[in-house]
Amino acid sequence: MEKVYDYVIVGGGTAGAVLAARLSENSEVSVALLEAGAGEGPAIMSDGNPEAAVGLWGSSVDWNYTTTPQSGTENTVHTWPRGRVLGGSSSINGMTHLRGHASSFDAWEKQGAIGWNYQEMLPFLMRSEGARGGDPRFRGQTGPMTIEEPPAATPLAQDLHDAAVDAGHPRCEDGNDPQAEGVFWAERNVAAGRRQSAADAYLFPVLSRPNLTVVTDAQVRRLVIDNGRCGGAEYVQNGEPGTVRAEREVVLSAGAVGSPQILLLSGIGPADDLRRLGIPVRAALPGVGANLHDHPLAWISYGVKKSPVPGPSRQAMLFARTSPGGDPDILMSFTAVALEPRWAGAQEGFSILFGLATPTSRGSVRLSSADPAAYPLIDPAYLTESEDVARMVAALRMARDIARADSLSAWRDEETLPGREAVTDEECGAYIRRTAGTYFHPVGTCRIGTDDEAVVDAALRVHGVDGLSVADASVMPSVVSANTNAAVLGIAERAAHLIAHPRRTLR
Ligand SMILES: Cc1cc2nc3c(=O)[nH]c(=O)nc-3n(C[C@H](O)[C@H](O)[C@H](O)COP(=O)(O)OP(=O)(O)OC[C@H]3O[C@@H](n4cnc5c(N)ncnc54)[C@H](O)[C@@H]3O)c2cc1C
Repeated sequence: MEKVYDYVIVGGGTAGAVLAARLSENSEVSVALLEAGAGEGPAIMSDGNPEAAVGLWGSSVDWNYTTTPQSGTENTVHTWPRGRVLGGSSSINGMTHLRGHASSFDAWEKQGAIGWNYQEMLPFLMRSEGARGGDPRFRGQTGPMTIEEPPAATPLAQDLHDAAVDAGHPRCEDGNDPQAEGVFWAERNVAAGRRQSAADAYLFPVLSRPNLTVVTDAQVRRLVIDNGRCGGAEYVQNGEPGTVRAEREVVLSAGAVGSPQILLLSGIGPADDLRRLGIPVRAALPGVGANLHDHPLAWISYGVKKSPVPGPSRQAMLFARTSPGGDPDILMSFTAVALEPRWAGAQEGFSILFGLATPTSRGSVRLSSADPAAYPLIDPAYLTESEDVARMVAALRMARDIARADSLSAWRDEETLPGREAVTDEECGAYIRRTAGTYFHPVGTCRIGTDDEAVVDAALRVHGVDGLSVADASVMPSVVSANTNAAVLGIAERAAHLIAHPRRTLR
């Protein structure tokens, strides 16, 4: 039997959990949340140790996507973890809570997302945060997403932090300061030693609300669209088809891969591509699935002369810029193990990871088939712009300067990666192309804007279709200069405000 709700939210990840919780605060409206994955995952999903997240990649709660062969990284097919469970990718992520420099939010408005800049986003970023003790001018103190004081630093973690200062980087009190630059201690989404996914923070505490229905193991196949209006969604649960109807609105929060995939399957996207697959065109929107990008990530690794103290530690991170007049465009993190390329393992030692925070390379998510069960073609176009490689080379050199600083002299042994093979810019670039991969931060495939390639307007409504919005990482015109979860929480808080507000103004 067809069920009817006021709002149907598709995808119970970071954004979907926020929307379900916020919209159902109004007991006058009914809300349904459909999630393709399960309601819960393996026990390590509640581990407070960020490294435990690696054990979730490739597990039953991961979609286990792969990319198309990437010409910029020696035709590598990259594994691409994305959460498939309540909490979505926040259930399998590294728990770093970092918003990004103000300039990376202001860049959205410069690209046509009117009203989407740092100042406008700030109240919503703050609304999500429970960061006790932060500067109340820009930190939220009472929001659902708990940010616990990280553990003390081990001696190696402290020396990694201090090496960045030796190398000339300023100390930064709070990495979530809008003008953050230099080295700071990372914050994590942890409460009482346990991981806080968006589901833990927002959804699970309100599951008993009578006006909220959460349907798990329900994969949405396509949207129901009649006469230019979206009236619901078709899904499959345990092999059985079902339909839900939305009286007011369907909100897509299926992430940077899932949201464009569902739009395309529903006939909303580039008309020629849809016709080629035999999908009837409901709205010709050439930008659906375009503009996919992610932070490319690589690292350098060193052996150590003495064994580091094992155990939990806070972790230093760093914002830096490759050009003196530019905005911060490099994000580093320092880890007290020597990682092998592309997470293949770890040895005793340390690594300095560097990601390009403002990549210019752009790829796409496209359908491989009209079959909703088929995985889409994911092309993040890593390092296809030579400018991105040049800035990654500059980041590698910055990382080396830090690794060779005095504070690490008691620890530092041989450079194991890249080592002597990478000296010239060309050699460093070749090393980066051979080893770089995902920082797990894809965005941009349903971007906000008013131009022909934009997918949603500034109030997050899909152009040309009534009763349909998108709210998740896919709406970012360009990726923020940090790990993306905190920014997605802010986007979803703002989306809930916009959707619940009858006049749909931006404030
Ligand atoms: C391995 C990994 C590590 C990361 N580490 C960090 C970190 O340390 N800090 C940080 O800030 N960010 C991190 N991120 C990124 C961050 O978690 C994401 O940016 C954020 O979770 C994205 O939120 P979202 O709502 O856009 O999508 P998601 O959280 O991915 O949610 C999408 C949801 O939609 C569901 N869905 C998809 N298709 C359908 C369908 N057809 N029908 C029904 N449901 C569907 C999915 O199963 C999923 O639950 C990491 C991500 C990963 C994968």
